[in-house]
Amino acid sequence: MTVSYHKKTIADVPVDGRRVLVRVDFNVPMDPAGQITDDRRIRETLPTIRYLIDHGARVILVSHLGRPGGRPDPKYSLRPVAERLQQLLGQPVTFVPEAVGPVAEAAVQRLQPGEVALLENVRFYPGEEKNDTGFAEQLAKLAELYVDDAFGAAHRAHASTVGVARFLPAVSGFLMEKELRMLGDALEAPRRPLVAIIGGAKISTKIDVLKNLLPRVDALLVGGGMANTFLKAKGYEIGRSLVENDRLTEAHDIIAQAGSKLMLPIDVVVAAEPRSDALPVVVPVERVPPDEMILDIGPKTVDAFAQVISTAGTVIWNGPLGMAELPPFAEGTLGVARALAKSSATTIVGGGDLVGVLEQLGMADQMTHVSTGGGASLEFLEGKILPGVAALEDK
Ligand code: ADP
Ligand code: MG
Repeated sequence: MTVSYHKKTIADVPVDGRRVLVRVDFNVPMDPAGQITDDRRIRETLPTIRYLIDHGARVILVSHLGRPGGRPDPKYSLRPVAERLQQLLGQPVTFVPEAVGPVAEAAVQRLQPGEVALLENVRFYPGEEKNDTGFAEQLAKLAELYVDDAFGAAHRAHASTVGVARFLPAVSGFLMEKELRMLGDALEAPRRPLVAIIGGAKISTKIDVLKNLLPRVDALLVGGGMANTFLKAKGYEIGRSLVENDRLTEAHDIIAQAGSKLMLPIDVVVAAEPRSDALPVVVPVERVPPDEMILDIGPKTVDAFAQVISTAGTVIWNGPLGMAELPPFAEGTLGVARALAKSSATTIVGGGDLVGVLEQLGMADQMTHVSTGGGASLEFLEGKILPGVAALEDK
């Protein structure tokens, strides 16, 4: 890796009495009535916010929410997030209805040491996603120090993740630091054996992850829809399963390159349709009926994967191993999650869908680290330099 992931943190710089602009990822899911349905992303930033409060900083939080497209849209207001944060922190949070300009400047001037303000959605401004220099400078004007705790947005080169760091000293928050340490160590200095489990719908979205991980890992376990393309490349009948016929050559290359590191399903769960009332049937991979679809890994595969996992020092897992949002096809993902929970390995899980499924199954808390970054963790595993990380000062 050409960029260091050892970054200065808020613990390395003076914060007492300073106005600190903290980029957080408060892009939380909301129901149509505007109620927050999952506040994990808010809770994950509490250590950073509490540290700054306790050390007398004037805390100015900035985040995006959804895709308002560069103009104000009340649907994407962060006001409800300010309320939730206030409950979680147990102290007042001032909601500022602008992110830059006179209203925001006046609001941050009034902040006393230990007080917290949350600015309105930074994507209400066209300059944010364009990483406009003038807009970044306006944001920077609000503070004397920039802290990035938004790992989930670090793969985007926007004004609030990258541009602002040109005008202020820039360090990481504790969540960013933890994400970089967990994912960075897994790639650069893992406790071995290092086992990667890759699932999800398609090879095409994870081909670069597979290529980057392959030389580093001791074992690569593949499930989910993407396993189908590997199985087809090996000559198996896969019926009406999801497959990427334009990726068969690449699948072939990976199979050849991986040799005995690669483990594919040996049995699978099939059904006629991906429905929650479907009748799941387990078959060996050699016997997938031509009119059915592979929708999960089978129990023998779970056992084989669990065997490898039980000897691992580190496990990285991205993507569900079946259509786990439907209960009949969640057993494979659940079984492997249980194997991770039981193992003494450092277990790191990522991927928006996988994390959601593990939360639903009540397994997320049993992992060493659940990454808050979907796209960001994927790009990190691809070996890419995340612009939001590169913008921070090295340790
Ligand atoms: P993540 O967000 O965790 O990285 P992906 O977005 O790559 O995961 O893939 C998640 C999707 O993969 C889910 O919607 C799931 O239904 C789908 N999927 C998993 N296994 C299969 C399968 N065998 N057939 C079709 N879709 C699958
Ligand atoms: Mg996904």
